[in-house]
Amino acid sequence: MKDRVNLAPVIAVDGPAASGKGTIARALADRFGLPHMDTGLLYRAVALNLWRWGGDAGNEFEALRACDDLGFDPGDPELRSEPVSKIASMISAYPSVRTALLKRQQDFAAQPGGAVLDGRDIGTVIAPHADVKLFVTASAEVRAQRRLKELLQRSMNAHYDDVLADIHARDERDAGREVAPLQAAGDAITLDTSDLDADGAISAAIRLVEERLKQSA
Ligand code: C5P
Repeated sequence: MKDRVNLAPVIAVDGPAASGKGTIARALADRFGLPHMDTGLLYRAVALNLWRWGGDAGNEFEALRACDDLGFDPGDPELRSEPVSKIASMISAYPSVRTALLKRQQDFAAQPGGAVLDGRDIGTVIAPHADVKLFVTASAEVRAQRRLKELLQRSMNAHYDDVLADIHARDERDAGREVAPLQAAGDAITLDTSDLDADGAISAAIRLVEERLKQSA
């Protein structure tokens, strides 16, 4: 049937740090009435476990142990702290850590009511059959400005050059790892948010998703 839109779609939103993918994913979940999973939080929760327990992020076996009993409070501000962000970026390169977190994400994506997931490998690994895949991007400079603003708003001491260097380092780790590197799926729609504010990016994303859902109806 031509104009019957899938009411329980799976939407994959991937992209680099501070591209706006989290804001977009939350807005899409709200707009389409779908449950949302921020998969970066899983890697951050492992990192926080490891950090609290004094484990070594350079040791894959210790990082894997930190995946056990992964209960966490998504509102815990420590999940978004700088040390935890850095450790999350490191331990996410370990194949065994990615495997340990796989089922939880795939089960979420397989819910009968549909779902929105955001991360780095949703369209390529977690939900390769997603109905819509967005790859959200922005220039490293714009992303660094956004991250700086966010850090200053949280009264944290930060400098643009350091934040930009950190964004570059994270991009390299995300794109350069052997397992599930950050890359757009072949059938993903790229949305560059460099020249858009949050409202503009959300409207553009909603439009793209609606168009894609109509095409596949
Ligand atoms: O998206 P966020 O910055 O919260 O993710 C934290 C870290 O987890 C990132 O540095 C990224 O390397 C990793 N990650 C990942 N795969 C995902 C989601 C996040 O490797 N699907």
